[in-house]
Amino acid sequence: MTTTSTPSLPIYLDYAATTPVDNRVADVMQRYLTVDQLFANPASRSHMLGWQAEQAVEQARRQVADTIGADPREIVWTSGATEADNLALIGYMRANRERGMHLVTSIIEHKAIVDTAKALESEGFEVTWLTPGEDGRTTPEQLRAAMRDDTALVSLMAVNNELGSINDIAALAEVAHEFGAVFHTDAAQAVGRIPLDVTALGIDLMSLSGHKSYGPKGVGALYVKRHPDIRLEALIHGGGHERGMRSGTLPTHQIAGMGEAFALMQQQHAEDQAHIAGLQKRFLRGLDELDGVVANTPLDQAVPNILNLAFEGIDGESLLMALRDVAVSTGSACNSASVDPSYVLLGVGVPRALALSSLRFSFGRFTSENDIDHALTLIRHAVTGLRTPPR
Ligand SMILES: *Cc1c(COP(=O)(O)O)cnc(C)c1O
Repeated sequence: MTTTSTPSLPIYLDYAATTPVDNRVADVMQRYLTVDQLFANPASRSHMLGWQAEQAVEQARRQVADTIGADPREIVWTSGATEADNLALIGYMRANRERGMHLVTSIIEHKAIVDTAKALESEGFEVTWLTPGEDGRTTPEQLRAAMRDDTALVSLMAVNNELGSINDIAALAEVAHEFGAVFHTDAAQAVGRIPLDVTALGIDLMSLSGHKSYGPKGVGALYVKRHPDIRLEALIHGGGHERGMRSGTLPTHQIAGMGEAFALMQQQHAEDQAHIAGLQKRFLRGLDELDGVVANTPLDQAVPNILNLAFEGIDGESLLMALRDVAVSTGSACNSASVDPSYVLLGVGVPRALALSSLRFSFGRFTSENDIDHALTLIRHAVTGLRTPPR
């Protein structure tokens, strides 16, 4: 008799890259796919199957809206936070040329913002690129100094995806409004991690993603405040779905999944955060015995699920190789010729060598204390091995 042993999976400490879909979310998604279920086009108005699919979409819209204190009519479905970022920046700037051609953002935003802002520069818009402090936070004073009469839009992220640092969104939005500009935030990493009430924080536009919050990949949303001043030009033209802002047949299963995932984020917020803060503490304590471990993450100004650490004197790529059984990320970009350190770490002033020695560990709902302990053993072993001079 032969037995096949399943190869053991690596320990997944890369929740900031994506999260697994929660089983409860997958169960909901199953209801909208097959012939005996609610697979119909939610835009089909001529039969009951279409109305039922539409009801599922509208329930999810309420679930997402409730999570951020919005009205369901303020949610525009997209294919993810990347598209939401594109729609916010390009859609707003193109529709409001008469208000101003100037946009303010920062150099450590996600590429979905950085590259979109660069595309706008090549269209003739002007961008001011702020450099945050070492803690990865942009201050209201920095923003105030960049504001001009022709600033139409400010875009600054809520939680940085590489560092975990949290911006003071309420204070930044207030500065934008003082100068008559509209405030956008990329909150893909923030849902369920920090309070996100759009009214309390003064947010006008906000990008959301399903798959950073235990929902499916390929779905997201843009919160668009209902206000006569906030008009967007569509990027995707077609059937006029989503009040003309984003055409395309709505993917019922993806949307229902994101709705359920967000509802769970809200329900489990306290429980998840307590669990993850405990894991982070355990992980940091376990690294105490290693010398030369420097936190790039500002621990008291960051979400507990993202921990960016530099291992002095060690090449991050070599450490990654030595840690085959732990799924983590470096944030660096590999070209055929060389490895470029993370632009986010360089952007907050981490020296190049230290940036190249850095790894991002990120924890989540399904990370166990066992995972942490096992990963610690592997990390201590790998770091010690790489630091031991060859005989
Ligand atoms: C993951 C992420 C995105 C991209 O989201 P998608 O839904 O994958 O397009 C944008 N911004 C931030 C901060 C992210 O972490």
